[in-house]
This record gives sequence, C-alpha cells and structure tokens, in this order.
Amino acid sequence: MTKPQEEKPSNITHVVIVGGGFAGVQCARRLARNPEVRVTLLDKNNYQQFQPLLYQVATAVLAPSNVAFNIRVTLRSHPNVNVKMTEVVNVDLGTRAVRTAQGELYQGDFLVLAAGAQANFFGTPGADKNTYPLYSLNDAERLRSRILAMLELADRDPSLISKGALNVVIVGGGPTGTEVAGALGDMLRSTLKKKTSKTYADLGIDRTQIVLVDGGSAVLSAFSPHSQTYAAKMLEERGVQIRLGTRVNEVEEGHVTLSDGTRIPTHTVIWAGGLKAGSLSENLGIKTGHGGRVDVQSDLTVSGFPRVYALGDFANIASEDGKILPQLGSVAEQSGKCCAKNILLDLAGKSRESFHYFDKGIMAMIGRNSAVAEVGEHRHELRGAIAFAAWLGVHAALLSSTRARIEAFMEWAWDYFGGARGDAVLDRTEELKVNWNDDAEESASAVSAADSQKPRGQ
Ligand SMILES: Cc1cc2nc3c(=O)[nH]c(=O)nc-3n(C[C@H](O)[C@H](O)[C@H](O)COP(=O)(O)OP(=O)(O)OC[C@H]3O[C@@H](n4cnc5c(N)ncnc54)[C@H](O)[C@@H]3O)c2cc1C
Repeated sequence: MTKPQEEKPSNITHVVIVGGGFAGVQCARRLARNPEVRVTLLDKNNYQQFQPLLYQVATAVLAPSNVAFNIRVTLRSHPNVNVKMTEVVNVDLGTRAVRTAQGELYQGDFLVLAAGAQANFFGTPGADKNTYPLYSLNDAERLRSRILAMLELADRDPSLISKGALNVVIVGGGPTGTEVAGALGDMLRSTLKKKTSKTYADLGIDRTQIVLVDGGSAVLSAFSPHSQTYAAKMLEERGVQIRLGTRVNEVEEGHVTLSDGTRIPTHTVIWAGGLKAGSLSENLGIKTGHGGRVDVQSDLTVSGFPRVYALGDFANIASEDGKILPQLGSVAEQSGKCCAKNILLDLAGKSRESFHYFDKGIMAMIGRNSAVAEVGEHRHELRGAIAFAAWLGVHAALLSSTRARIEAFMEWAWDYFGGARGDAVLDRTEELKVNWNDDAEESASAVSAADSQKPRGQ
C-alpha cells in the first residue's frame, strides 16, 4: 500500500467514514462532539440526498434543491470533520484503509462503511438498461424529464399514444412504488384534466395508463391488511391499475412483458422492485449476506474486524429478536448514532453497547389527502387526511435544516392550494430520444388487453 493521504496527529483518533447519507452524517456529527476525534467523511457526491422525497422531484412537486443538501454545509460547525468528495473503490478491512477512484488512500483507527444501497434488478432481462430506478437525485431528475418528455411528444403527435407514450409501468408495490404511482396519478390528473395554457388537456386523461405490478398478494406488504386495502382503493381512484401476483419478465425499449404474458407498450418503466448494497460491497474481500449487505454483529462491527463498522442500508442489522431490520432512514440514523457511541466507548476503555432499534412506525403517502401511517411499536393505524398531515410533518422534520423545512412546506402549499407544479422542467433533453419502432401494432392491442382488465377509476 502507498503512504496514506493524511498523517495522523498524535493522540487524536482518526475515523474514516465512507458515505455521507443518513447513517454516515449522524455518525460524523456525534463523533465530532469529541475533540479527541477527527473524522474524514468521503462521499462520491458533495450532497446528502433525502431519498424519501425523491418521488416528489420525479413528479415535479419539489425541486432537486429541496431534497439534496451540501454535506459541507450540514457539517460546517464541526472543524474536526474533513469532507472529501471522492468515490471509494477498494477497502482493506484488515488495515482499515480505503482507496479512491483517483488513487488516494485514507486510513483510520476506525473505519465506518455507510455506502448505502442501489437498485436490485434480480437479473430481469433488460431492466438495467430500460427502466428508471428511483434511488438517487440523478434518477429522480431523469425520470421527471422522461415523464415530461412523453407529455410533450404526445402533445405534438398524438399518434404516439398508441405506441405507449402515455403508459407508465411501475415495478414493485412497496412504499416507493406505491408513493410514485399515487403521485403520478395526481400529477396526470392535474396536468391532463384542467384546460389551461400550462396543461396538456387535449391529450385526455383516459388515454393514459399507470400500471403497478407486484409479485405479492397486496401493495405495501409491510403494512396491515386495512392499510393495504385503503392504499389500493386510493390508487385505483387515481387511475392506477394494480396487477398483483404478477412479475415483470422482461423490459424492452418500447414494452414490458409480464409473467401472465401481457405485453404493455411503454417507454417509462419505473423500477421500485428492490434494493441491494452499494457496489462497494463487492470489493470488501469478505462474503456478504442477504442483498449483498455486510452482516454485522450486535455492536455493528464486522465479524473479525473489531474496529470496522457497517451501517444503514449497507448492512444487515438484526433487531433484538434476530430479524433483519428493513432499509429505513430511521434505522440508518440510529445505527450512525450507535456506531459513534461505541467508538467513543472503545476510546474510554468501556464495553460497547448492542444496537437497539427504537421503532417509531411506518408510513406511506398515496397522494393528496391520502396516506397510511402505523405509529409506534404497537402500530396504531391512521389513514386519510390525518395520516397525510402526519406524513408531511414527519418528513419535514427529518429534513436537515429549518430552511429546508420551510422551503418544502412552501412547495407543498403551492401544490395543495394552487395546484401549481413549479418544477415541471424538462432539463434532460436526452429523455426526448425515444425508439418508437417497437412492434406498434402488437403494442396497441396490448394496451386494449390491459385496458379491459381494469377500467380507470376516473
Ligand atoms: C425512493 C425511496 C424512498 C424512501 N422512503 C423512506 C421513508 O419514507 N422513510 C424511511 O425511513 N426511509 C425511506 N427510504 C429509505 C432511506 O432513504 C434509506 O434507508 C436511507 O437513506 C439509508 O441511509 P444510508 O446512510 O444507509 O444510505 P444513503 O442515504 O443512501 O447514503 C449513502 C451515501 O454513500 C455514498 N456512497 C455510496 N457509495 C460510495 C462510494 N463507493 N464512495 C463514496 N461514497 C459512496 C452515496 O453517495 C450516499 O451519499 C426510502 C428510500 C428510497 C430509495
């Protein structure tokens, strides 16, 4: 190994954190309170992205600046945290050293791996090339441009509608798929139904299709049957066709093929079908666990490497009953705090603590005035406008600064009371490039087949 990038000043413990998401930033914040510690936080972006609101960027409710925050600004009050924008490509767990794409080396007394997650296509043919995942700011901006591109193209040439221009297929009926399906339903209703100069009312709402496909028996599988039934009803009211017990077998440039043989013409397939650990997990030199994530011990260290921690979406973290916790912002944040505490306990010569997850519950937004929330460990159920208000409050509170909260609330208020989507900007013109020659005739008949299965609930 070459000489580390930074020399360690004596008596100061150096912690290297890879990933400035929910877990990495929380860990850095907690560690930074101790003047005996210095932190180097490495992230391939200079911003922390707030994934729970990405679907609102994709549907033009919020602007990218509402959901992405400069990491240096977030950590500006901590002089002992050094942020570097760089991608880590290799890790030596034994020496706690990481190498970046530019060849720099960072070595810590402790190493914290918090490199998040990426889409898992489960080997579905064509899915990696022909779908729009929704796991990063870049994904959300691309998807927004594609949705707007399809509206603009169909507005200019309505014959493209029979080639699937206004069809959107969403793969996965978990919270991400459900939230984006509901938001799209609201977006299309507001832009296709009202006749004003800023809408596309000539296209007709009844010529669009939003199809949500899931292999399971209900949407929102982690929620109660009542919440699932409510969510399905609210989606159908927004014109979403739900295909349960069905998988997507293949995604081509201009259509998807479902496991029941249905072929749906579409140029906008949204992948919300699952997650796996960030690609760095393939370069750790250890066997990883479910979803490519790093299996961690109860104190969040990696087995065999007592001064290496893995956190958040990058790790398989077990609850006290041994079940693996879901990939949630709250799990990531709490794991970041626990890791910092354990490092400080180590330095004080005390025993580390086991991670204990404080479960505040789960919630999902379906659309205007419609959400489901199951609050606390005992899952007190809320639905409708009250859950909608709770969702807005909780997500605003999670944003990193007061300014971010105020800005998000202003955008939501404009959308709610004024019906104005301020950020319907088609800024990625490459999304206008579409191959329309995908068996047009066959595709048109598949639209009718899909149509006949479930009418739009308008
Ligand atoms: C669409 C969507 C909606 C969601 N909604 C909710 C919700 O409503 N409620 C909830 O609790 N959770 C929700 N989640 C889950 C939640 O966002 C994640 O669990 C949380 O972001 C995980 O935090 P993390 O710090 O582990 O990873 P992340 O927040 O993903 O951060 C990982 C960081 O690592 C960086 N990184 C990755 N690889 C490298 C590398 N090789 N080198 C340097 N840097 C690297 C990335 O740039 C990123 O900044 C949602 C997730 C998605 C995708």
